[in-house]
Amino acid sequence: MNTTMTPSKSETDVLVVGAGPVGLTMACELLRRGIGCRVIEKSDALSQTSKALGIQSRTLEVFENMGVIEQFLARGLKVLGANVHEGETFLFQTDARYLKAPYPYILSLPQSDTELLLLGLLHELGGEVEWSRELAGFGQERDRIVAFVGGDRADETEEIAAKWLVGCDGAHSRVRHTLGVPFEGSAYEEEFLLADVDLDWDRSRDRAHAWLHEDGILLCLPLPGGRRWRLVSDIAPAEGEEAPRASVELFQELMAERAKDAKTNISNPTWMSNFKISRRMVTGYRRGRVFLMGDAAHIHSPVGGQGMNTGIQDAYNLGWKLALVIKGKAPDELLDTYEEERLPVAREVLKGTNASTNLVVSRNPALRFVRDRTLSHVMGSGLVQETLLKRVSQLDVNYRKSSLSESYTSPQTLLPGRRQDGFRIKDWLNLRSEPKAGDRAPQGRCLRYPSREETSLFQEFEGANFTLLLFDGPARTEEGYANLTRVAQNIEELWGEDVKTYVVIAGDDKPENLDWDGPVLLDVERELHETYNATGAEALYLVRPDGYIGFRSQPIRGDRLLRYLGDLLSTASVRSGTSEAGERYAKSYADKTSTTR
Ligand SMILES: Cc1cc2nc3c(=O)[nH]c(=O)nc-3n(C[C@H](O)[C@H](O)[C@H](O)COP(=O)(O)OP(=O)(O)OC[C@H]3O[C@@H](n4cnc5c(N)ncnc54)[C@H](O)[C@@H]3O)c2cc1C
Repeated sequence: MNTTMTPSKSETDVLVVGAGPVGLTMACELLRRGIGCRVIEKSDALSQTSKALGIQSRTLEVFENMGVIEQFLARGLKVLGANVHEGETFLFQTDARYLKAPYPYILSLPQSDTELLLLGLLHELGGEVEWSRELAGFGQERDRIVAFVGGDRADETEEIAAKWLVGCDGAHSRVRHTLGVPFEGSAYEEEFLLADVDLDWDRSRDRAHAWLHEDGILLCLPLPGGRRWRLVSDIAPAEGEEAPRASVELFQELMAERAKDAKTNISNPTWMSNFKISRRMVTGYRRGRVFLMGDAAHIHSPVGGQGMNTGIQDAYNLGWKLALVIKGKAPDELLDTYEEERLPVAREVLKGTNASTNLVVSRNPALRFVRDRTLSHVMGSGLVQETLLKRVSQLDVNYRKSSLSESYTSPQTLLPGRRQDGFRIKDWLNLRSEPKAGDRAPQGRCLRYPSREETSLFQEFEGANFTLLLFDGPARTEEGYANLTRVAQNIEELWGEDVKTYVVIAGDDKPENLDWDGPVLLDVERELHETYNATGAEALYLVRPDGYIGFRSQPIRGDRLLRYLGDLLSTASVRSGTSEAGERYAKSYADKTSTTR
């Protein structure tokens, strides 16, 4: 950056540094909530390398919510599991059918395509990437960041004043260095080889194929398009020697040695690389007005395909929170929950990928022996497969310990016999396995009332901020519906702009005594009620904009919901009880509930 020129000055709400998959997701999440942001990227165009191939099930749900899932599914290849061998012997397979989810597979798509699709969405939302613009450094003031940005030409230097800065600038993050945040961890000894090639074999393209061998692994992952595959191997060079460079000839040798396959022809390499890997993560995700996410905050082994997925979900977590704070609808402290929720997730990802990498690349003959003999037995268990797949797909990520997760269950709700009308012991047992506050809100199908058009919860969550689901359960009483209607109407009146309220009916028609003109969903087969454990008693779920349950109560407790929303969403005046609306509502609710409960 040429410091002799006077830089131009400008302002923005949020400066996003880096246009990798994480920076692009972050910018889209802000723009679709009407928040202005600028995205600077030091490269002059999108990256052309295929790096991250595996888009996990949870990330596909995120893309559905962002409205781009069709484009991803049209380009990607569904991978339903992996076949694992030792030489010519088949050991076991992983099977995505154990994953009970809307997208029960990994979508194989080169990272360059993922970035292209996210860039397309960014353009649709009215945003753009400023290419060849590099962050040189920044300073933090009380109420803003001043960033120094350089361009190709000396006269392109600029001082950007931003309310917030998000560092999505990858493993060597300038943002992280400027903040002085430690990036703790270590490097693996092994070196990895990679090649994107054509293979002239006829193995199934909806599966990955792997061979375990005493010298290392050979992994073949299908890529979209014809006969395209990604080959990956680890290699331990002899002492004092350098690892050989990835080449078609080398992979041909590895295929013969490790897969005992001397026939398959490897050709047409489009990307070949040697790479070493590290596991590191930051000690904090937020410093004042600056956030870190994606590879800038955590890097680890690509085994299990977690890196890009974890980063995209970092952005998905912060996006709605930052938008609410910028709009003045939530207090600044909401932003602290970004680190509170996402840092432990990264810690778990590092732990998990480290364990699986050590297992895969271990040079310890005893460990290898045990691994090769026991894995096929262990993986024969459906429960093991389900647990493992839930972990890899990131569907088991939850924020149960977050300060944003709250639930209330009346002890009475747990007592069999409280509800005379249709209560079964099964319902009572089910209450123990209800989705908890902090869990991902499960998907389910239902009908819209009155059109009876088929829909799903995820479809209804789309574009919404918060979603309130009020399940009527078996309580088809006048009193029950009066309470439910009052909660729905009051939330609509106070928070209608940010919370979309649905009454979910266990049946095929809207009950006459439900005095609610807002959206109603018909749960004809009662599947949603089962999934949300509302078959035994009415239940309330508040789903956050990122699809996680923020608050739940059973039975429906409007006063507790109001307090929760007041803390989370309100301006300081509502929280301190000085808002007239808030006080009026709280009082009227207390009066009414005291007469009906
Ligand atoms: C071989 C390989 C295979 C992988 N496979 C998978 C997989 O299957 N699944 C998975 O989830 N992950 C995988 N990963 C990891 C994945 O590629 C990364 O986690 C992902 O790229 C991180 O995205 P990001 O946006 O955080 O960072 P990056 O993709 O690194 O993007 C950062 C951007 O910031 C820009 N930048 C840097 N500094 C500045 C600056 N000062 N000013 C402006 N711009 C700047 C960079 O040019 C870059 O474009 C793989 C990685 C590798 C290498």
